[in-house]
Amino acid sequence: MNEITKPRSTFALTFSLLKGMRKIGSFRLWSIYFLGFVLINGFGGVQAWSKEGHIMTCKIAQELLVPNAAHVVRMLLPDYANGDLSTLCVWPDQIRHWYRYRWTSPLHFIDTPDDACSFDYSRDCHDTHGGKDMCVAGAIKNYTSQLSHYHEGTSDRRYNMTEALLFLSHFMGDIHQPMHVGFTTDEGGNTIGLRWFRHKSNLHHVWDREIILTAAADFYEKDMGSLQKAIQANFTHGLWSEDVTSWKDCDDLSTCINKYAMESIKMACTWGYKGVEAGETLSDNYFNSRMPIVMKRIAQGGVRLSMILNRVFGGLDPLKDTLVAT
Ligand SMILES: [Zn+2]
Repeated sequence: MNEITKPRSTFALTFSLLKGMRKIGSFRLWSIYFLGFVLINGFGGVQAWSKEGHIMTCKIAQELLVPNAAHVVRMLLPDYANGDLSTLCVWPDQIRHWYRYRWTSPLHFIDTPDDACSFDYSRDCHDTHGGKDMCVAGAIKNYTSQLSHYHEGTSDRRYNMTEALLFLSHFMGDIHQPMHVGFTTDEGGNTIGLRWFRHKSNLHHVWDREIILTAAADFYEKDMGSLQKAIQANFTHGLWSEDVTSWKDCDDLSTCINKYAMESIKMACTWGYKGVEAGETLSDNYFNSRMPIVMKRIAQGGVRLSMILNRVFGGLDPLKDTLVAT
């Protein structure tokens, strides 16, 4: 490990150098790698995150809960979850094809007009039949609103608070996956078939899962816990530590959710689709430049989920726009 933690002489790393570094693993290296990426490029500002992405998002969020909110979350989880929200964060993906829950399928993503590279709630947040609010942004608003009734007691049977918690936690992950706010014709990259290194994949799946698994394999001996710790270290005392407060800024829920979706489609255009042709092979160059974005989105999803849960359950600074009828 020692040679890995030595400071590099310069952060002006090139992609070819990054490529050479891929087989070495450590958080320190990853930080340098990130910083090198930032200095070179700058940050501009249909499925789901893989189970790994959702688990990390939810673990990050749960560790940031204030005591009141942590208590409510534990109360809402079924016993078999042993108080661990992340064990059920993939649940909405598991049930979306069941007859009873088939209606939830459009809630995992947003289809925006091809090449518009923007999100407009009234234009884009609907299902294929034009059903209003039937998209991931609408779902986050809806389930946050439902959860805001929690403190009114259990007599209100309109809402299943456990399901609302699981849906909200899952969808906060999805809205941060750039390709979940993608173009309509290619279904967020799902129909863009290509190869990821040596195996067949598609552009959506590259962002859902391939980049995460390749990062874990190359840097963390496939240990997702270590990858998660590295992401957390980057916002507690690393690369993003000065940005975390602004990630959590939110006066009005609708505006914030629209912003998260807008961030995603901008990233999808700039980093997801750009330069990618169906049938090609994506490998080191694509991985090296996109991996930091994927990790940042997982971090942002977790931090912002904790912000919402802390404000809805923690009793402090309630969010505006969450008490609308749903
Ligand atoms: Zn999903």
